[in-house]
Amino acid sequence: MFCNKCGKKLNKSDMFCSKCGSKRKIYIIKEKEFINQQYNKLSFFLVLITLFGALSLTIAISLISKNII
Ligand SMILES: [Zn+2]
Repeated sequence: MFCNKCGKKLNKSDMFCSKCGSKRKIYIIKEKEFINQQYNKLSFFLVLITLFGALSLTIAISLISKNII
């Protein structure tokens, strides 16, 4: 494994190049995957909250209309 920027040989465990300090590509990809995973989780919760909100609103409306009638 060599540095993408300066070409220095790196150890497998190195996150950064010891010569130029640039991040190893594999870790950048992992970081992006992690962000995507977090984003997917967040959008899942947003959908869940929206559905729950719509459901409770429907229940509330039906309860209110039952009380009026
Ligand atoms: Zn380097």
